Amino acid sequence: MSDCLFCKIIDGDIPSSKVYEDDDVFAFNDIHPKAPTHILVIPKTHIPTLADVQDPALLGTLMDRVNHIANDVLNLEAGYRVVINVREGGGQEVFHLHAHILGGKKLPF
Ligand code: 5GP
Ligand code: ZN
Repeated sequence: MSDCLFCKIIDGDIPSSKVYEDDDVFAFNDIHPKAPTHILVIPKTHIPTLADVQDPALLGTLMDRVNHIANDVLNLEAGYRVVINVREGGGQEVFHLHAHILGGKKLPF
């Protein structure tokens, strides 16, 4: 989608600090980290929010990659948090579906 920030990051039109990429997802460091490790994992398909997902398999793939990135790429053995903000009321600011991976310290609730 041409006016989407995260689509531009996937396409390389906006620079990012990439940590992982495959045919389905792209993952990069959040520009304003809320924890020592703060990664965003986004599907390469443009879907605005979690509530817009039509294909359950897409969520399976997204969570599988989150798991892989957290465990095998970031080595967050101590644990981590996965957050998906949904729409304005949920704190979503960028309307391209994304999962936050937060870790690297003991996180308060
Ligand atoms: P949301 O609030 O939509 O769940 O999360 C959006 C996240 O994207 C925020 O944590 C914000 O810091 C991050 N973000 C916004 N603009 C950029 C950018 O241009 N580059 C990167 N790497 N992260 C961004
Ligand atoms: Zn997009």
